[in-house]
Amino acid sequence: MVHFVGAGPGAPDLITLRGRRLLETADVIIYAGSLVNPELLSFAKEGCRIHNSACMNLEQVIEVMKQAEAEGKTTVRLHTGDPSVYGAIREQIDLLKRDGISYDVCPGVSSFFGAAASLACEYTLPEVSQSIIITRMSGRTTVPDGESVRSFAAHQATMILFLSVGMIEDVVRELTEGGYQPDTPAAVVYKATWEDEKIVRASLDELAEKVQAAGIKKTALIIVGKVLGDDYALSKLYDKHFTTEYRRGV
Ligand code: SAH
Repeated sequence: MVHFVGAGPGAPDLITLRGRRLLETADVIIYAGSLVNPELLSFAKEGCRIHNSACMNLEQVIEVMKQAEAEGKTTVRLHTGDPSVYGAIREQIDLLKRDGISYDVCPGVSSFFGAAASLACEYTLPEVSQSIIITRMSGRTTVPDGESVRSFAAHQATMILFLSVGMIEDVVRELTEGGYQPDTPAAVVYKATWEDEKIVRASLDELAEKVQAAGIKKTALIIVGKVLGDDYALSKLYDKHFTTEYRRGV
């Protein structure tokens, strides 16, 4: 059996209870060493075989899983954040299916939730934005036509860019030319929830300069939108005049 497990954004106590239990019982752990906090490996039991997938290709990862399966062992494949977001789990799952190896997925706290917590922000504010666009700049992995940052910018919704801080100047240009005003509030969160986390807040037109000055080149999220500003409407849910299934308005 192979368990795909979300490691959470960084702080080791942000893995789920289920994820931790799976780590504690695994015979083999394959972790994404470029981003997963190695402190999580201290949950592994004595004698657990540990592999760092940063130095492995897809076939090598699957080979380790197949070998473990042949020995009747349990494998945890530990991915950063939540495995469903830029996790490259589908290609692994399809090869496991081909080989008749069973698997399941344990969710994790994605880094974009970790970053929201670090910023103490709400991505969905009434009358400001009720939608979150999660995307990335086209890089060595391309983004399909029709999903350009520039086209999404027209919505003026809350936008979160993964895997893009190394191209911060291009990001800002695409966002601005796409429709965000240059004074739109933005933030870059580097290593959200890690001990060396850094937060840069700036309006869009000053963001690139500040991010470069902070020396942030990777492992960061770019968050853009008026939800990072000061204006919003109060929620209906907690409005004293609003009646819900649970509470009668006054
Ligand atoms: N599955 C992961 C994302 C993997 S893609 C998740 O749910 O978070 C890797 C990218 O995620 C990084 O380039 C960076 O943009 C972002 N990332 C991962 N961990 C991060 C963290 N702790 N703080 C900020 N960004 C992070």
